[in-house]
Amino acid sequence: MSAYSLGPLLHEGKAKRVYATDQADVVAVEFKDDATAFNAQKKAQLAGKGQMNCRISALIFEHFEALGIPTHFLGVDGTNWMLVRPVQVVPLEVVIRNVAAGSLCKQLPIAAGTRLDPPLLDLYYKDDSLGDPLLTDARLRLLGLVSDGQKAAIEAMAWRVNDALLALFGGVGLELVDFKIELGFTADGALVLADEISPDNCRLWDLAVADDNDRILDKDRFRQDLGGVVEAYGEVLKRVQGCCPEPRIYG
Ligand code: UDP
Repeated sequence: MSAYSLGPLLHEGKAKRVYATDQADVVAVEFKDDATAFNAQKKAQLAGKGQMNCRISALIFEHFEALGIPTHFLGVDGTNWMLVRPVQVVPLEVVIRNVAAGSLCKQLPIAAGTRLDPPLLDLYYKDDSLGDPLLTDARLRLLGLVSDGQKAAIEAMAWRVNDALLALFGGVGLELVDFKIELGFTADGALVLADEISPDNCRLWDLAVADDNDRILDKDRFRQDLGGVVEAYGEVLKRVQGCCPEPRIYG
C-alpha cells in the first residue's frame, strides 16, 4: 500500500508538476521530460530527462541534509516522483556564478570562462511574464518581498550551497560554473532549499575535456543544440551517485 494518495494538481511548471497529497504536510512533485529554454520559447521532449533530474536532485538533497543544509526533500517514490515539504516559495531566483557564462556575458563585457573571484551572487525576480528581471537591492526593498534579515539568510544559504556543490562536483571532475536555486519557508517559518538541483539549473563542465562545447554537461547542450542532453545528464548522475548517500524512499 502506498504511504500517500495523490490529491489535486496544485501547479504545473516548465519541468515539474506539483500535486497535493492526502497528507497536509506532504506534496508530490513529478519530474517531466519537457525541456524548455529562453523563457519557454524553445521546447522539446527529452525521454529520460525527468528521471535523471529527479535522481540527481534527490542525491544532492540527501547529501545536503547530511551536511546540515535544510531542504524540502522527504524522499523519492519510483523514478520520477519526489515527496517534499510544502513551502511558501520566495519569488526569487538566487544565482551564484563561479565562472562567467550565459546572461552575464551577454549583458556585461566579460568573456565566457572568466573565473569570478569572489563569486558573484545575483538575485532575480521570479516572474516569467517579466522575463525574470535582475534585481538591485533598492528594487528588492521596493518590492518588499523579504525583510533585510530574510535576504541575509537566503544569501547565506546560497553561499553554503555553493561551497557544498563546489566540493561535490569538484571531487568528481566537474567545474561548477554557476547555478540557480529557489528557497521557501515551511509552515513553521524555517527557510529551506526548494525546487531542484540538476543540470537544468547548474552549468557543469567536464574538467578533463578542453573543447568549449564537448565539456558542457548541462542544459546549455539543449540551449545551443549540441545534442546528447540526456547522455550528459547521465554522466553527471554517474559521477555524483558514488559521493552522496542513497536517497530515502518515501513511506
Ligand atoms: N537558470 C535557471 N533558470 C532560469 C535562469 C537561469 O535555472 O530561469 C540557471 C542557468 O541554468 C544557469 C544559471 O541559472 O546555471 C545562470 O543563468 P544565466 O543568468 O546565465 O541565464 P541563462 O544563460 O540560463 O539565460
